[in-house]
Amino acid sequence: MENYIFEIIAIAILIGLIPAYIASRKGLSFIQWWIYGTLIFIVALPHSILTGGGGSKICPYCRCYLKINATRCRHCGYDFTEAL
Ligand SMILES: [Zn+2]
Repeated sequence: MENYIFEIIAIAILIGLIPAYIASRKGLSFIQWWIYGTLIFIVALPHSILTGGGGSKICPYCRCYLKINATRCRHCGYDFTEAL
């Protein structure tokens, strides 16, 4: 009976690696998403796929990398909302 519990935990930790990997590819914390994926895989997996995460875009003025959902450049102050 106890072995069965350990097996479930082991599988949860392994499948938790999937959203952790997806999130880490987007520049997010691997460890955080691993724990998240281990605890609530069914939520973490679609969340990791759908999240904008740490994807980056380039500021047209200073050419620095910014988070994909940034509305203002943290270096030169360029406002992306005005460009839309
Ligand atoms: Zn800039």
